[in-house]
Amino acid sequence: MFRCLFCGSKENPSHEHVLADWLKGAMPFFTAKWRVHQSYEPVGGERQVRVMEFSPFTQTVKGVCEPCNTRWMSNLENANKPLLTPLLEGRGKHFGPDSQRLLSSWALKTSMVWQETLPRDTIRGIPPEHFRWLYEHRDTGTIAPPPGTLVWIGAYGEQRGPPTAVHVPLRIEYSDDPLPPNEANAYSVTFSIGHVAFQIFGTTFEGQGLPKAPGKHDLILHQIWPFDSPVIWPPDRLLTAQMLRGLAEMWTN
Ligand SMILES: [Zn+2]
Repeated sequence: MFRCLFCGSKENPSHEHVLADWLKGAMPFFTAKWRVHQSYEPVGGERQVRVMEFSPFTQTVKGVCEPCNTRWMSNLENANKPLLTPLLEGRGKHFGPDSQRLLSSWALKTSMVWQETLPRDTIRGIPPEHFRWLYEHRDTGTIAPPPGTLVWIGAYGEQRGPPTAVHVPLRIEYSDDPLPPNEANAYSVTFSIGHVAFQIFGTTFEGQGLPKAPGKHDLILHQIWPFDSPVIWPPDRLLTAQMLRGLAEMWTN
């Protein structure tokens, strides 16, 4: 039975695109099929990374209702157009707190929709509470990632190379009680589109505060949520495809 991932409505199912059509215009080198590195963890199995032929502009998911699709999610896309276009093209721009809040929310929303393309029996790292939180704070003037979320941005040097989309469910051990098998209490998502890459970490575990970013996060990426400092784009340092995949793995070590 249909139930909207965001608002919980059981009515008006729609087809939500993983990446909105307007993004194509900002990527003249776009081809119909992308080879996407997609990581996932089947229930009861080992995590796998597969390279899949994927068309994010035509791929749709069914978990979003029509009012969510055409109202707040559409508003979020529109608010991000003037921000994402220069990012995708690698043009110079300055991003302050409000821009970073909108970009973070867009990156999280896109990761959530993208997660629905994973195989059915896959552990979903992004929890239902975070979908709900985004819906409840859906007004474009105030929308922001939920507490327990960190978002970074980076410049992808191989923008014509393979885009990366990696979802990693995580288990943070915070007491002697082991987590039930096949359950995650945190997640990491890395994805690239055009010249820009996003890294997202989120958790529903709020006991000890947020973990410190591992390894090279702060050297090669710029934290945009929670706001830290203005982003000057493009940065000097460019990410390779290998570095992107490495970032996604860091949280598991
Ligand atoms: Zn909805």
